[in-house]
Formats: sequence, C-alpha cells, structure tokens
Amino acid sequence: MTIGIGLIGASRIARDTMIPAMRNHPECEVVSVFSSNPERGKTYAAENNIPHAASSLTELLADTDVHAVYISTTNELHHQQVLAAAKAGKHILCEKPLAMNLNESQEMITACHEAGVVLATNHQLRVGDGICKMRALISEGAIGKPLAARVFHAVYLPDYLQGWRLNNPSAGAGVVLDIVVHDIDMLRCVLNAEPTEVVSLSQHAGLATHDMVEDGNMAVFRFDNDLIAQVHTAFTTRYADNGIEVHGSEGSLIINNVLGRELSDPVILKNAEGEQQFELTQHSIDDKTIYLFIDAIQGQGEPGCSGEDGERSLAAALACLESARTGNRIEI
Ligand code: NDP
Repeated sequence: MTIGIGLIGASRIARDTMIPAMRNHPECEVVSVFSSNPERGKTYAAENNIPHAASSLTELLADTDVHAVYISTTNELHHQQVLAAAKAGKHILCEKPLAMNLNESQEMITACHEAGVVLATNHQLRVGDGICKMRALISEGAIGKPLAARVFHAVYLPDYLQGWRLNNPSAGAGVVLDIVVHDIDMLRCVLNAEPTEVVSLSQHAGLATHDMVEDGNMAVFRFDNDLIAQVHTAFTTRYADNGIEVHGSEGSLIINNVLGRELSDPVILKNAEGEQQFELTQHSIDDKTIYLFIDAIQGQGEPGCSGEDGERSLAAALACLESARTGNRIEI
C-alpha cells in the first residue's frame, strides 16, 4: 500500500531535503501540505508539485489519503500538532527538537501510544553508515573501554537560515536546541549509553539578535558508562571542520565530515596495529530515515529514531541549556 504523507509546515527542510527523500521511496507519496498562510501553502504546493494545499490542519488531518504526517514547523508548534495528528490516527515523523520541554514530549509519546501510531523523531545522524559502523566497532570491543568522546560541530549559519533560529526564544531558537540535540542523540546511539550530567557554557558571539539566544556552546557530558564527551557547537564559525572522535583504552575511532548531509569520510580506527580505514556504502541519511519510517508504519521494525529517543536527547539538550544559564552542573 502506498503511504500518503501530509506535510505540516511549508518549510525549507521539507522542500530541500525531505520531499525528495519521500519521493525516492517507491511506496511513499506526498499528497498534501498545510501552511498557516493558505496563499503561501498554495504557492508551495504548486512549486513542489504537491496535489493539495489544505487550508487548515483539521482539513489535512481529515484527508483519508493522508496516512502519515511530517511535521517541520518551528519547534513550539510540534507539541500541539503531534497531539492533533495522533488523535486523527496518523503516523508521525516529527522534526527535532521533539518538543520545547519534557511535559510536552511525555504527552506526545503517550498520545501516540494510545492512538497506536508510530512516532518518529527526525534525528537522522544516527542512521548514517559511518555512525552505524562506529557503533558496531565500539560494541565489538574494537577500542576497548570507551573513555572519552569529542564532537566538533561548529558551523556558520547560512544567511537564508538567519531568522527564528537567532531571534525567537519562544520558537526554540539557539544552537543548543538546533545542534547539540542532534549531537547528543548521535553520541547516545554510538556509545549505546545515556548521558547523566552536563556542564556547559554558552556564547553570544554577535550573530544571535536576542539576548536569550546563544550562538555558540561548549558542553561536557558524563555518560552512565563514565565516559566524558565534549561537544562544541556554533552558528558563527565559517571555516571549522566537523566530526566525531571516540577514544578508548585500546584504540580510537574518528570520522570527519560526518555531521552534514553530504557523504562522510571513512571511519578511521587507530590502535596498536596501526591505522585502518573502513569505506562505507554511503546511503543518504534522509532516504534511510524515510525507509525506516515507512517500514515501521508497515509493522516492520522501528523508526530510525523513536519518540522516546527524541525525548531523551531533548532532556540532555535542555539540561545543557540550564547549565549554561545557571552556571551549575545539571543532572539529566
Ligand atoms: P523554516 O523557517 O523554513 O520553516 C518553519 C516555518 O516557518 C514553516 O512551517 C512555515 O510556516 C514558516 N515559513 C517558512 N518559510 C516562510 C516564508 N518564506 N514566509 C513566512 N513563513 C515561512 O524552518 P526550517 O525548515 O529551517 O526548520 C523547520 C523545522 O525543522 C524545525 O523544527 C527545525 O529544527 C527542523 N530542522 C531539522 C533539520 C534536521 O537536520 N533534522 C534541519 C533543518 C531544520 P507554515 O507552517 O505556516 O507554513
């Protein structure tokens, strides 16, 4: 059966990334879009070859051709839109951060369980081939006991994204809810461990236009296997590289250029025998996210990142923000 997807939010990420990924799946079809501005919704539908523009969320959710929704509105809207979609019996792929706080995420997860619908969070980094390989090597003991990790994910926010991410705290602006939440999700997956506490410092380096919005952050997380992980994120650095390193008692694993959507570098393993590189198949992380989501809807396996995983990663990001705000070490 073809799964019809309704888009909630006429967003850039839907247009540039997720609609193409949906169209790369043979059993997935984009059937409708809802925008809070009906005129923009119609234009968006026409420009993106979407058959229908719904003039209200109720109309989109009442459409029997819509079996699932992809929610990519600004972050403060995810909660109410997930609740409405669950009530209408639609499966849900929701953008990150899953919600603005843990009361909201709890309610969303419960509503989806009760409605019997799939709730997936779009933390796509964890499904990447390099990250999956790194996780497998760590669990096989390739680096001995994992002791420390480092994620370097400082970017320059492109001009076209310099809107609500920099000036609207009530929409969940700032680098922590935008990027740290992805990085901690990836670390949780790679390490197969949970963060237990965090200390962090935020920065206001001139790009964010609101006092309450950070445009840089450095955080150190402790995990329940006693590993410590350093995470550097920013919107302000034009020439920084990105990558992840995990250092263990018997070796180190490194992947560079793994935190964007382009193909990552190979996984590098360094140990007493020297250096080994693992070349990867390199599936698109967004295609893989959609494949796993459609499989989960069809009762075959779990989505790439569940609602529960989205919530745990959100909890760590919120603790990171609180640490920066209060100057305290925060338990997660
Ligand atoms: P956009 O700013 O493109 O879209 C967010 C909302 O803004 C849309 O829902 C739309 O409202 C409104 N909007 C968009 N364009 C215009 C415009 N030209 N004029 C007026 N309103 C407009 O956001 P993003 O696509 O960057 O992000 C959306 C969500 O996706 C966020 O939750 C973000 O965190 C997440 N995201 C996730 C990524 C990932 O890697 N997983 C990457 C990028 C974003 P309406 O609903 O009314 O149409």
